Amino acid sequence: MPLVFDIPGYGSLHLARLVCDFNGTLAVDGVLASGVAERLQRLAENLEIHVVTGDTYGTARQALAGLPVNVQVLPERGQAEAKLAAVSALGPDECAVLGNGRNDVAMLRAAALGIAVIGAEGVAPEALAASDLLVPGSEAALDLFLKPKRLLAGLRA
Ligand SMILES: [Mg+2]
Repeated sequence: MPLVFDIPGYGSLHLARLVCDFNGTLAVDGVLASGVAERLQRLAENLEIHVVTGDTYGTARQALAGLPVNVQVLPERGQAEAKLAAVSALGPDECAVLGNGRNDVAMLRAAALGIAVIGAEGVAPEALAASDLLVPGSEAALDLFLKPKRLLAGLRA
């Protein structure tokens, strides 16, 4: 069942998929941030979850093993384009995207909902500008979909 949000002054969101960057978004220094694993488990009941990552630390597959997520590790070059291509193939109108870096900008902009995540690795100003909302950290980002009134409160006009 997709997540449906009707947000006054913003529009209707029908989200079937969540596409996440890994480092700086779900992980710090290549290690999954605290609280992320259980939230991904719960979210997978409603959203198909994809992680698209340059995998700077080479840890993404291991860190996400056993979780209900599809992991795509990208080659060193052309990551922004590859992330955009992944979201385009998944249907941007039904995608929410979480990201923090410059290689997330195009997919954040393309998705129906783009969430910039600010943690220890920071957020690129271009990624912020391409997003609908900025949240402090991985748990807060995932909680937007588990506590939907937060999203409503942040986006309504
Ligand atoms: Mg990142």
